[in-house]
Amino acid sequence: MLFFFIENAISLILKTMKLYHHFIDIENKNIFPACVEIKNGKINNITKTDLPCEGYILPGFIDAHIHIESSMLLPSEFARIAVKHGTIGTVSDPHEIANVLGIKGVEFMLDNAAKVPFKFHFGAPSCVPATSFETAGANIDANDIETLLQRNDIYYLSEMMNYPGVLSNDKEVMQKIAISKKLKKPIDGHAPGLRGLDAQKYIDAGISTDHECFTKEEAEEKLKMGMKILIREGSAAKNFEALYPLIEEHYMNMMFCCDDKHPDELEFHHINHHVKRSLDLGIDLFKVLQMACINPIKHYQLNIGQMKIGDDADFIIIDNINNFNILKTAINGNFVFENGLTTIESIEETALNHFNCEKKKVSDFKIEVNQQIEKIKVIEAIEGQLITQTIYAEPLIQDGNIISNIENDILKIAVVNRYSNQKSGDRIYKKILT
Ligand SMILES: [Zn+2]
Repeated sequence: MLFFFIENAISLILKTMKLYHHFIDIENKNIFPACVEIKNGKINNITKTDLPCEGYILPGFIDAHIHIESSMLLPSEFARIAVKHGTIGTVSDPHEIANVLGIKGVEFMLDNAAKVPFKFHFGAPSCVPATSFETAGANIDANDIETLLQRNDIYYLSEMMNYPGVLSNDKEVMQKIAISKKLKKPIDGHAPGLRGLDAQKYIDAGISTDHECFTKEEAEEKLKMGMKILIREGSAAKNFEALYPLIEEHYMNMMFCCDDKHPDELEFHHINHHVKRSLDLGIDLFKVLQMACINPIKHYQLNIGQMKIGDDADFIIIDNINNFNILKTAINGNFVFENGLTTIESIEETALNHFNCEKKKVSDFKIEVNQQIEKIKVIEAIEGQLITQTIYAEPLIQDGNIISNIENDILKIAVVNRYSNQKSGDRIYKKILT
């Protein structure tokens, strides 16, 4: 008893901790009962043991591409939920907030994220505004990109959505890419459906990942051209089913991500869901974990430990490899999730958001027609995909106005300008009628 007391007291002073679990060694594809020794937040030693071991210890999960804003939470609150699913870090593009607030928005995310023990890794948003059709609150140009990428806490140039700009050598786009190359920071891709020579040109420009592939053939082609492919399964787009057959052969060049994860889903699962689904399909445990825990660290040079001696003690403890229930999550040797609760504190922030328009009236959304219209343009949404199709349908007209056709599931949508008082949906209105 006294011995244990003294040992614990010494451990506390030296900030050491010994954990006895089955260690999942991803690199060497091996599992063995181990004593994992942690000292001052780092992995000090991992040795085989004969002592009884319960549960399994392994590196934590990383979401390789997620916009924290789509969780509708502050980064600090996102972290409090993510750790209970075994997530210890993310690669996050703050382009949603940047669209509204520019660099000030990016700084807000960085500042809030730095207040909690969770390993966020933000990028410099490459496409703000997202398209020239958009009325955005800010513009991030090549000079801003240089300012952002020079920061140590900005890890990469985030998703280059303007692939037509890359293909046509748009000056501003190419400048942003050149700055990233000069500063040796990876460039993320976003090129849904881009194939053949166009895909090759996009990759040759220096763009190294894509999370937008929605068919196996497209992903396979891009993998063969040297791109890293992320399997996205989030709240909006779901590509797991189409892409999981590629894991077996290409796991060293693949990662998992959500892209967008709404709060109702984040509450229940995160990257642990990708892992569990893959294992349930019989995919090799080590290949799945290579994608979930290791590949993002290597590709983006993330500040996350891989459970090697000298690494930050970032890890999770699970019950067993069949159920994969997360029992504990540790970051820098501190448990941020244990006994079903997070130890990360809530942070209060003052909102930077701004809405500068008046309240809208029902009449603001009227689409009046005073001529005979045979067809209207309709955006067809495809379940589980972000890509859409154009179809033409007969309008439903009531009292001289186009109204939603609920029976056929054709609903009116409007874009409301939040930055100034303008008539809602003016552009949409014109487009619908053409
Ligand atoms: Zn994205």
